[in-house]
Amino acid sequence: MLLTLILTMVSCTEERTKIKVYAWTGGPGEATDSVLRAKFEDLKAKGIDGLMYNGGQDPKTYKRVGALVKEAGMEFHTWIPTMVQGKNPKLPKELYAFNRNGESAYDKPAYVDYYKFLCPNKEGTYNFLAEMYGNVAAVEEVDGIHLDYIRFPDVILAEGLWDKYGLVMDREFPDYDYCYCDDCTSDFKELTGIDIKEAEDPSQVQEWKQFRYDLITTIVGRISEVVHGKGKQLNAAVFPGPSIAKKLVRQEWNKWALDAVYPMNYNDFYLKGPEWVGEITKEEVEAVNTTKPVYSGLFICPNPENKTKENDPENHGLLPSELEEAIRGSMESGAAGICLFTPERMKPEHWEAFERAIYKDYTIKESN
Ligand SMILES: [Zn+2]
Repeated sequence: MLLTLILTMVSCTEERTKIKVYAWTGGPGEATDSVLRAKFEDLKAKGIDGLMYNGGQDPKTYKRVGALVKEAGMEFHTWIPTMVQGKNPKLPKELYAFNRNGESAYDKPAYVDYYKFLCPNKEGTYNFLAEMYGNVAAVEEVDGIHLDYIRFPDVILAEGLWDKYGLVMDREFPDYDYCYCDDCTSDFKELTGIDIKEAEDPSQVQEWKQFRYDLITTIVGRISEVVHGKGKQLNAAVFPGPSIAKKLVRQEWNKWALDAVYPMNYNDFYLKGPEWVGEITKEEVEAVNTTKPVYSGLFICPNPENKTKENDPENHGLLPSELEEAIRGSMESGAAGICLFTPERMKPEHWEAFERAIYKDYTIKESN
């Protein structure tokens, strides 16, 4: 009798096996505390362990929202874009990147109006980011800073987007190739002796690629000192690979000073099926040599019944029927967990598939 009672108590207090799940979300807009509290409690109940929360750059917003997220029992990471910065009195025009045609991303951004990328090779850029991230990291409720757009503009666009922008990006074109500001070109010349402005085809100069990977790697390292100095974690949303990340946006993220990495394994952008998520996760886990957790970012289809009629890949993504395969593939390839883009895009059928997939131990291959 006593033994039965003890066993019952043990099984009641034991937590159900579950994979770690994060989600990208944001706000708060005009939402009241009680509305936010209900939303966060709902996400926690569904199995979300932490939020990457996009709420601007004001530390006060993160203090308020962070308190509610922590109250609901979740981790709180602030999701704030890095190199993409809209017009701001603290950011003079000279800090923005220049393409190979000599055009500034400030007044002639590539692809879309918000693509106003800073040059990572300027002290003014670092000083702005260090102050902004430092102030947010100082907020008690913040567990970590989540970098996004920590890269150059897409010199090659993901193939799923070619139709949308009417482009065939089988090589690097000058309009989308950054940064050719005087600091970047002269520092590169000093380092290597190569005048990149005289190169017949800069895309064939390996040192020039590496120089720009290193500029991003260096600024991540400097930001990590600021954030770690406040006792907080640093992580980032990155392109997949890093083979794809290097080729498309010059992120050599396997070398970055991060505590965790969140590759956006958005298969539809690469015209791939859900099985590809596991394949690319394998490369990602091997790239960091299991020194840090990889959380596989999953892109959810917001309107599954319309997916085949949608031309814009922003409206594509994983169907409920594909979600379990993407989660299993990620976990069996060594991911530490997953991250949903976004919980708001999830339909009831997605949540059902999600629940079937997250309460499993993927370290042991199932025998049935
Ligand atoms: Zn530059």
